[in-house]
Amino acid sequence: MNTPRHALIAGAGIGGLTAALALARAGLRVTMLERAPALDEVGAGLQLAPNASGVLRELGILPRLEGLAQAPERVRVRSSSSGSDLMVLPLGREALARWGAPTLVVHRADLQGALLAAAREQPSITLRTGVEVEGMTREGAGVRVHMQGETIDGDLLIGADGAHSRIRRQLGLGGAPVYSGRTAWRALVPAADAPAFARAPETQLWLGARAHLVHYPLRQGSLVNIVAITEDDWRGEGESRFWSEPGAPRDVLRRFGDWTRDPLRLLEKAPDWRRWPLFDLEPLKRWTSGPVALLGDAAHPMLPFFAQGAAQSIEDAAALGAAFTPRDGATPSVTRAFADYERMRAARAARVQIASRRQGVIYHLPGPAAVLRNMAMRALPQEAVAARFDWLYTYKK
Ligand SMILES: Cc1cc2nc3c(=O)[nH]c(=O)nc-3n(C[C@H](O)[C@H](O)[C@H](O)COP(=O)(O)OP(=O)(O)OC[C@H]3O[C@@H](n4cnc5c(N)ncnc54)[C@H](O)[C@@H]3O)c2cc1C
Repeated sequence: MNTPRHALIAGAGIGGLTAALALARAGLRVTMLERAPALDEVGAGLQLAPNASGVLRELGILPRLEGLAQAPERVRVRSSSSGSDLMVLPLGREALARWGAPTLVVHRADLQGALLAAAREQPSITLRTGVEVEGMTREGAGVRVHMQGETIDGDLLIGADGAHSRIRRQLGLGGAPVYSGRTAWRALVPAADAPAFARAPETQLWLGARAHLVHYPLRQGSLVNIVAITEDDWRGEGESRFWSEPGAPRDVLRRFGDWTRDPLRLLEKAPDWRRWPLFDLEPLKRWTSGPVALLGDAAHPMLPFFAQGAAQSIEDAAALGAAFTPRDGATPSVTRAFADYERMRAARAARVQIASRRQGVIYHLPGPAAVLRNMAMRALPQEAVAARFDWLYTYKK
């Protein structure tokens, strides 16, 4: 029997963990290298679109999310000035039939926990935490990863080290992400404190001038997850760490002061806010170089206007697993598998990056342009609304 290939993965975020599971399933031995000392419970809610939940189902992760993830009944788009509905996208049985998998919302920590538990059950996956990848060199046909005071060799390396990826920089595949002029403010409100409209089992999206707001119930309705996105002139330095910068409630409320009363009643209940400056990057032309490939935010940092960053990293993982799956009894070479992976993923992820950017412009339109957008949204039949998402929510390998 051949010795299984050894894959190194830099970064154990949602992308890295899902890739580890997909590669292990394809028969590879996997070592994950994560700089955080522990995979702590951090973060807030994540929307898992059908293109992501379908992959998680295939990997056996969905049953682990039972009782943790929930399925909103619809997405309701609302006007920030009148509170009226602009558009409703049902997510019930019809949507399930249409896109083949459910739309879910889940706490990021619960998804990470489910992926981690699955990885721990796989003898072919090793997770090392508290090790920072400092760089890599080519070693024969393989790769040597350098960490403080030690190195580790593998047949291939996956750079799943996030939007500010060191691996991407070292390979020269793309520059540093650029601050987009937008900040996401995130908060969790105990459901008992939230106004009734925010406890409805649906995702609500409010559109305002140069700002929008998304909220949905989380963890069996015990919490309401809020993401408020504003345009601003943040001038922070370098990489802002996820979920790490506190934000002042009065700063958030000031930005939404001219909105209708309902959303304000919800925002006022947030016990504390975290701010997350949003970065953007032009789509990369190449995702791979020799025995190294990028995955997740490292390959395609994107603005969160379609809530697709994690979903795309989950799609990446599935494609990577498929690319390494033995055919006619033979495991594809790394060169062949990476070529297939790039072909399956680069154009699609680039399309999502660009569409997300465009969606941000549409969501934040001010003045007469917003009036026209709202009229167009109100006039759109429900079938036409759903059809606009077919390309995004249906994942094909
Ligand atoms: C406001 C907001 C809302 C969002 N909402 C959604 C949503 O609803 N749905 C959705 O699908 N997506 C959403 N996203 C996007 C999603 O959060 C990201 O796309 C996703 O988490 C990316 O996962 P990743 O594993 O590629 O990267 P990351 O989560 O950034 O993980 C990278 C990992 O690599 C580690 N690392 C970094 N450098 C090194 C190194 N040198 N050595 C070792 N380890 C290293 C980090 O510690 C980290 O654990 C949202 C994003 C934002 C900002």
